[in-house]
Amino acid sequence: MEEVYICELCQLAYEPEEMNGVRKLKEFKGYTVDLRVQQFRKIIYGKTFGERLEFIQFNSPKGKTLLAQMHWKVAVECDNCNAENPRDATECKDCRRRLN
Ligand SMILES: [Zn+2]
Ligand SMILES: [Zn+2]
Repeated sequence: MEEVYICELCQLAYEPEEMNGVRKLKEFKGYTVDLRVQQFRKIIYGKTFGERLEFIQFNSPKGKTLLAQMHWKVAVECDNCNAENPRDATECKDCRRRLN
């Protein structure tokens, strides 16, 4: 299966958190984000079939949409040089222009 490229900003933001020796996966829009297996997971509670697990592969159309939303939550594009910077950066890493 084709792997989806995950940028450094996303990797840092969405890698599992380690708490008391337990790795806890991050969540985005109700989905558990698993960078290792490149998959989103969510438990769906349906009236007809009850509880089931929904899987969305990163390289599926829906997965790519979620990844793009995740990306723009942590990254911001410089108006001047189009470089991508962390959301919380105050100036562009490439051209040093102020970001807002
Ligand atoms: Zn990204
Ligand atoms: Zn720039």
